[in-house]
Amino acid sequence: MSGKFSVAVLGAGLAGLSAAYTLTKAKKRVVVIEKASQVGGLSRTVVHNGFRFDLGGHRFFTKNPEIEEIVKNLLSNELVLSKRSSKIFMRGKYFDYPLKPVNALLGLGMRESAKIVMDYSRERLRSKRRIVSLEDWVVANFGRELFNIFFKEYSEKVWGISCDRISAEWVAQRIRGLSLSVAIKDALLRINHRRPATLIREFLYPEKGIGRLAERLMEEVAPNPVLLGCRVKRLTHANGRILSVTAQNCDSEITVEADSYISSIPFTSLVKMLSPEPPEDVLRAASRLRFRDTIIVAIMVNKPRVTSLSWIYIPEKKIPFGRIHEPNNWSEAMSPRGKTSLVAEYFCFSGEKLWNMSDAELAQITAEHLEELGFVKEKEVIDACVVRVPNAYPLLEVGYRRHYEVILDYLSRFENLQLVGRTGMFRYHNMDHAMETGIKAARNILGERHDLLTVNCTAEYIEEVR
Ligand SMILES: Cc1cc2nc3c(=O)[nH]c(=O)nc-3n(C[C@H](O)[C@H](O)[C@H](O)COP(=O)(O)OP(=O)(O)OC[C@H]3O[C@@H](n4cnc5c(N)ncnc54)[C@H](O)[C@@H]3O)c2cc1C
Repeated sequence: MSGKFSVAVLGAGLAGLSAAYTLTKAKKRVVVIEKASQVGGLSRTVVHNGFRFDLGGHRFFTKNPEIEEIVKNLLSNELVLSKRSSKIFMRGKYFDYPLKPVNALLGLGMRESAKIVMDYSRERLRSKRRIVSLEDWVVANFGRELFNIFFKEYSEKVWGISCDRISAEWVAQRIRGLSLSVAIKDALLRINHRRPATLIREFLYPEKGIGRLAERLMEEVAPNPVLLGCRVKRLTHANGRILSVTAQNCDSEITVEADSYISSIPFTSLVKMLSPEPPEDVLRAASRLRFRDTIIVAIMVNKPRVTSLSWIYIPEKKIPFGRIHEPNNWSEAMSPRGKTSLVAEYFCFSGEKLWNMSDAELAQITAEHLEELGFVKEKEVIDACVVRVPNAYPLLEVGYRRHYEVILDYLSRFENLQLVGRTGMFRYHNMDHAMETGIKAARNILGERHDLLTVNCTAEYIEEVR
């Protein structure tokens, strides 16, 4: 590996690899630098003693026909049709997910439902308030009772901060246009022309897990190098241009020079890697932005199937994980024959007590709670695997934008640096958005003009097609 590259791509998740894929097709000399020993980042599939699991089941969905075409071409022979059926498990009962208020009201019984509807009506009569937080938004659209029952505990479990500190920007992106009155009207008018949102009941999934998408992209990037096990630690710059990137690889350092740089590594880490250092206010802003981390615990079970569901959301605080999925329900190739697994997602901050627990302890508490919920029996558990995933969710705290914009303003002064992807841009991107930012960044280098900040701005509830 010698000489100058046309483009250096930092991070081999879907954003970085999509950029490298586009540039490779255009015959550019590209190098991809990735700290992990495998590609895919958050969208990788872990293989453990014959079992396979995603870091939280990953369902690919896009409204962008070009991205859909690329994915279908890359995985043409490997896609299987998977049934989508998700539920919320609470108070020993299943409720529909995404939450359908009418189903929730029926499940909660007459007394509680009457309270919810009255409370919601009171909320509608109140004068309009400024919507700043997730709590403001949900209370305004669903009432406080429903917020307390379904949203509060789950959201606080996911984000680790109270709902009045989570920015409304996040929730409005995900469930815009939905409210209790719309949901009730939709349910009542079901027999009429105004049909409610149609749920996507089936989806295409790579037979051997979502990680195959990144692996296929990597195959297409060859013969350009994808350097695995190389942690970027420094970017040197002068006169508004990045000059080189230095990465640590086991016991040696490598320095790569390129004309352009595309970064998908965490936004806040990148700032701290710049040499010379950015001004004090930029470093301060970087220390104020946080990601939420996650721990994935897969429990292998000695029977063919436990549930028939894709995802199960578990809001109650007494259960320490927030969601489980059974990879076998996504594709039967995810477990050895006659066996299955349940994969639990814990949300936490790295360094917390949960993060520092041993793998054996995490496996044990997961198995115990799965038993308490009635999913498995102790004697059926045959193995476990724990994966700690840093920087899984950009944490959109109320007021985060101030800090975000300080950093963005500083980084955008580098004329040959582009930021892409979920962690790279500190945006709540899904896989298709991450890919789109990578492809557009590559095309900018090829002479087109795309504003990457506009990707994933036409927010709509992505779980549904209207
Ligand atoms: C639990 C969970 C479930 C999800 N489910 C879905 C879903 O169902 N559908 C969907 O569309 N999306 C889903 N997503 C979102 C999806 O995972 C992301 O949108 C996508 O993987 C982001 O890709 P990326 O390339 O932007 O970022 P990443 O995957 O984070 O890639 C960044 C890469 O940079 C590397 N890196 C970091 N630091 C360095 C360094 N110093 N040097 C070198 N390399 C470095 C990382 O190892 C990583 O490989 C989910 C996310 C999570 C956390």
